[in-house]
Amino acid sequence: MVSEKMKPFMENNSAIRAMFEEGKRMAAVYGKENVYDFSLGNPNVPVPAVNEAIQAVLSEEDFNALHGYMSNAGFEDVRQTIADSLNKRFGTAFSQKNVLMTVGAASGLNVILKSILNPGDEVIVFAPYFVEYNGYVRNYDGRVVVVSPDTETFMPKLAEFEEKLSPRTKAVIINNPNNPTGVVYSEDTIRALAGVMEKKQKEYGTTIALISDEPYRELAYGGISVPFVTKYYANSVVCYSYSKSLSVPGERIGYLVIPDEMEESERLLTAAVIANRVLGCVNAPSLIQKVIKYCIEHEVSVDLAAYEKNRNLLYSALMEYGFSCAKPDGAFYMFVKSPVEDEKEFCETAKKHHVLFVPGSSFACPGYVRIAYCVSYEQIERSLSAFREIAREYGLTK
Ligand code: PLP
Repeated sequence: MVSEKMKPFMENNSAIRAMFEEGKRMAAVYGKENVYDFSLGNPNVPVPAVNEAIQAVLSEEDFNALHGYMSNAGFEDVRQTIADSLNKRFGTAFSQKNVLMTVGAASGLNVILKSILNPGDEVIVFAPYFVEYNGYVRNYDGRVVVVSPDTETFMPKLAEFEEKLSPRTKAVIINNPNNPTGVVYSEDTIRALAGVMEKKQKEYGTTIALISDEPYRELAYGGISVPFVTKYYANSVVCYSYSKSLSVPGERIGYLVIPDEMEESERLLTAAVIANRVLGCVNAPSLIQKVIKYCIEHEVSVDLAAYEKNRNLLYSALMEYGFSCAKPDGAFYMFVKSPVEDEKEFCETAKKHHVLFVPGSSFACPGYVRIAYCVSYEQIERSLSAFREIAREYGLTK
């Protein structure tokens, strides 16, 4: 019964999920407090103001207007509020027509890829990357082309990028701040990427979209700012999600921004709205759209300091124990070098100490592991002796 197209998806079913299930099994055996599960990027810092917003929206909005069908792009007032807020923050000039509400970033990426890809078109990604991109691109018969990782800095390798751009390249996906490395691409990096893409567009006479996947945009620490790509490259599409910045991944809400400067922007916007509908999302969920408007108006956001505190504790401990990793300035991940070549063996060793993290091969970057520190500070504190033991086992520390 299962389709041929679906079979490879089933074979590659996520190692991250498998690890998460393992965590639950171990917690049942050893007790929750004795298992240190760093496998899943599930936000753990509550944002109680979201619940207040839900109540306020429910009491203020008319039933039919709130729960009824709407434009497939989403509520106009919500989109205008988002456009205004972006304009204020980034000096842009969007209006509601540039914004399309989506069912999270996953759906936003599918909507834009469906809107632009022809079979055989290439989409460039930078390893390590969120491997769901493979499935999203394959949905529309595109082909993922991977730029190998710069394991010193985890910044894009520009020379290899330039070589891999081809007349078939339709899009480049970047993810900033990055899952799984936690690094943040600077303004200079974005400018450099844009420069290469502009050069290749001219050379090939094509249009290459820069899709910036930004579910972690607000999660950047120590005052680091995350550049807003539309200011640097005209053919940019921003794919945003509130999953992490409001700790609501289950609510499935985000948006796409398609700027006027984008080639054929009006047709692309129309295509994206139709893609949203024919993919079966129809429109993003209505209640949470209005909640987003309320949250923007009331400046609601997650307590960043909680994640930053986690990062500081874990990063300094891991460095002290002799592990190595590029300093993570954003998101809630660190990408740590495996002390042995096969990082899956490292994961198995850690598991014996009840520490769970995800092998880098799940992000097309073997030899590393991803540690998701979106857990309680207490869990990190309790896990440190286990990390020290693991480091001892590999002779990293005494
Ligand atoms: N892109 C990246 C890099 C992610 O890490 C995630 C989720 O973890 C997504 C997209 C999907 O986000 P959403 O939950 O908004 O669909």
